[in-house]
Amino acid sequence: MSIQEPSNRYSVIREKNPREILLLRGNGCKWRRCSFCDYHLDFSRDEEANFLLNERELAKVTGCFKKLEVINSGSFCDLDKKTLERIRCVCEEKEIHELHFECHWMHKDEIPKARDFFAEKGIRLKIKMGVETFDFDFREKVLKKGITAESPQEIAKYADEVCLLFGLTGQTLDSMKKDIETGLALFERVCINIMVENSTKMKPDRDVIRLFAENLYPVYIGNDRVDILMENTEFGVGDKYEQ
Ligand code: SF4
Repeated sequence: MSIQEPSNRYSVIREKNPREILLLRGNGCKWRRCSFCDYHLDFSRDEEANFLLNERELAKVTGCFKKLEVINSGSFCDLDKKTLERIRCVCEEKEIHELHFECHWMHKDEIPKARDFFAEKGIRLKIKMGVETFDFDFREKVLKKGITAESPQEIAKYADEVCLLFGLTGQTLDSMKKDIETGLALFERVCINIMVENSTKMKPDRDVIRLFAENLYPVYIGNDRVDILMENTEFGVGDKYEQ
């Protein structure tokens, strides 16, 4: 197994919702319990080192599409204050008016303040939340996601976009379709991640992935509001898992 510094932290997404994307580094996901996740291992408690790394990556942003997505293997609140200020400065300088951040449900009450902080400079903040599925029992008992919301509508009060995770034993064609349709009905965008092999015990289920690839991928791949990542490196940032 190797978990190491990702070799690429900046990329440009040119197809749907064109935007630049940065994988920055924070002080670590505070939840860290999702059963399928090992990318929370990309963190450092050294805030100054994080800032220096993040500053170097932020210098690559050109503003070519006036939209920027910042991910950090956790939630935006894990980023240090100087990094958040630098993100705002770069957006202002490059006339970026739309900024996408990730956020775990546990930090939902910090979202309004962050929206205000960026709105001061005319930047709209879009919050992407890893929901993985709207099936409460599967999400909380199997995936251990830590979302206490009783309904998708409650999640939609905080998040603008959702991530879904498919390719797991127990999921069916109907359950995946229902998740996508719920996501499209209540959120601006849906990002579908297909489970890949990683260092956790959770394994991709090839039969479920085939069901998705044959029946749902062709239906939604043309939808501008749906991103589909058959591999988690398809946005051009991060690295594949190697044993
Ligand atoms: S909240 Fe995100 S980063 Fe944290 S453990 Fe879950 S999937 Fe991983």
